[in-house]
Amino acid sequence: MNNRIHIKKFGGTSVGSIEKIERVAERIAKDKLQGQNPVVVVSAMSGETNRLVGLAKQIGPACKGMAYDMLLASGEQVSVSLLALALEKRNIKATPLLAHQVGIKTDALFSRARIQEINTEQIEDCLKDDHIPLVAGFQGVTNGNTITTLGRGGSDTTAVALAVAFKQSECEIFTDVPKVYTADPRLIEKAMQIPKLSFEEMMEMSSLGSRVLHCRSVEIAAKYKIRIHVRSSYEETEGTWIVPKEELMENPLVSAVTHDMKTVIIKMYPVPSGTAFISQLFTALAENNISIDVISQSYNKEGQRLAFSISDEDLEEAKKIMYKMIEPEKVTVIENLAKLSIVGVGMANHPGVAARFFKALNKMSMDVHLVTTSEIKISAIIDKQHLSQAAEAIHEEFKLGNAHAL
Ligand code: ASP
Ligand code: MG
Repeated sequence: MNNRIHIKKFGGTSVGSIEKIERVAERIAKDKLQGQNPVVVVSAMSGETNRLVGLAKQIGPACKGMAYDMLLASGEQVSVSLLALALEKRNIKATPLLAHQVGIKTDALFSRARIQEINTEQIEDCLKDDHIPLVAGFQGVTNGNTITTLGRGGSDTTAVALAVAFKQSECEIFTDVPKVYTADPRLIEKAMQIPKLSFEEMMEMSSLGSRVLHCRSVEIAAKYKIRIHVRSSYEETEGTWIVPKEELMENPLVSAVTHDMKTVIIKMYPVPSGTAFISQLFTALAENNISIDVISQSYNKEGQRLAFSISDEDLEEAKKIMYKMIEPEKVTVIENLAKLSIVGVGMANHPGVAARFFKALNKMSMDVHLVTTSEIKISAIIDKQHLSQAAEAIHEEFKLGNAHAL
């Protein structure tokens, strides 16, 4: 099928109440009447997935696996069916589809499954019958038809993967903000809207805690060159385009400040010298699906130091693993942290960004626990209590309140 279709994903806040679902239905109906060919993806109603996680937690904090994913996936079944009803009420034919009906095949890694293949037939049949396909986001099925989920925020990935399957070059992501901002406007009042960002920047921002897009969705978009249009569900205005970096007119030194409040640091001293212990520890954590973010290691004659950060969600599990390998008195866990980062494709070719980053932090008397950099980002892990002031100082230092001035 080569016809242009319009993949539109509506996030949880956009379908957070019946009234909002009716508004989304109105918008889809209008697009359809104007000649578009929508294929819609929806998230669960806002708060619903958290509610489901909360229920499972009451049974046990370590609930995971097949039943857990089946539970979490149920939120999207509700929103996709309500949206279908709202469209039917407007005499628009629509078919709600779950992952097993579409054939969204994933691997069997529960709670972070990866899409391997999407069967386009069912959706094509809907389109031929002039029905709007409404696809439940976030969920998939294994080859054996066991329900999986793609990781929190994963509906974006469903949408971009559909764009790949249908060989489209664009995908619209509707959300409750009109554009992506230079920082979270709840943290920094002066945050500005960004018209265009490169895939690379958005990928860094997503993995550094900006919750605009699921990181994996941007990874797939970058790989298949699918331009993502992040825009408001309520307004018709143009949003932020996520595009290949060649399409950016200029490469801003720093495009955005992001933060993540889910970081914990684990420090160990002394650990056995050499790399055997570190390798065994990280292997054990990886085997339990715990990813390590920042790592710092130093060695001198008195002993080897190791510090690394993980997500606070993985802390309990990590403790169980670590304490089998090292005495608890050699371990310090630091909580109540935030990771503050700057992202910008321009910094790859300009020296002095780290200097300015630390100059801004130096305006306050505060400690930085760990630092890490890549070509296009610098992150510092600091105490949560300093986050808002530090973020503001950095936003100011790079003049982000003035729309990308250098
Ligand atoms: N409902 C899922 C979540 O809350 C997926 C999504 O919203 O994209 O994580
Ligand atoms: Mg989301």
